Amino acid sequence: RLVSPPKPAAAKVLPDVRHVIAVASGKGGVGKSTTAVNLALGLRANGLKVGILDADIHGPSIPTLLALHGQPRMGKDRRLLPMQSNGLSAMSMGMMVDAETAMVWRGPMVMSAITQMLAEVDWGVLDVLIVDMPPGTGDAQLAIAQGTTLSGAVIVSTPQDLALIDARRGIAMFRKVDVPILGVIENMAHFTCTQCGTQHALFGTGGAQAEAQRLNVPFLGAIPLTMDLRVASDSGQPIVARDPDGPLGRLYIDMATRIW
Ligand code: ADP
Repeated sequence: RLVSPPKPAAAKVLPDVRHVIAVASGKGGVGKSTTAVNLALGLRANGLKVGILDADIHGPSIPTLLALHGQPRMGKDRRLLPMQSNGLSAMSMGMMVDAETAMVWRGPMVMSAITQMLAEVDWGVLDVLIVDMPPGTGDAQLAIAQGTTLSGAVIVSTPQDLALIDARRGIAMFRKVDVPILGVIENMAHFTCTQCGTQHALFGTGGAQAEAQRLNVPFLGAIPLTMDLRVASDSGQPIVARDPDGPLGRLYIDMATRIW
């Protein structure tokens, strides 16, 4: 294990949730949501009860990644029930409003939507709630980091300098509010040509690992850029659910084991 088990969530709004873990990135499009879903499934593969909250309100991808259609049902006490997919409880603003509507929301509305998804959803008993954070380090991110009593944060970055600069900001933001960094994951690390087998480091190589070392945070591993992963994500069958014993499935499950 790279890190000791995270401290208890102790969040008032989520009394039955042991740990809330944020998956964050400085930039959009680096594979944060893909990583969040596969890590969540990796934790579940470890026998844990896991939920995933899509706080990326301006670009909610969890419904697509988990093939969730329709709207959540209302349960007891007029609280919404999270939707279920591949053994995960999931909630996303993408299930409630269309993308164009949420796109124009300002900070306070984003915050109130996230608060609702935390407090007004019947998450039930969970070992972990993974929060797929909005990209960047604005007010909304800071408010989530402070408001939900995070047990820890996982930072996703490509090896590219531009993404790393923003990842560094993300790490600084979590540190400022005393949220432990559980680790950095390098995504889209390299691409292996299916024709000739040559490895190409399209976005550079080792950048996130070096940055993790420099900042003294655990490096959880590098995920290659692969067609399999992209196709699995787009089809709503994440790679850990589709092929848990394959190399990618094992990689995510191993990373999940190390953060737990
Ligand atoms: P973010 O949440 O950072 O915006 P996503 O997880 O939505 O990023 O990923 C953006 C796109 O890149 C998606 O189409 C996803 O399937 C694809 N993708 C993410 N990681 C990989 C990878 N390692 N290999 C191939 N495609 C990937």
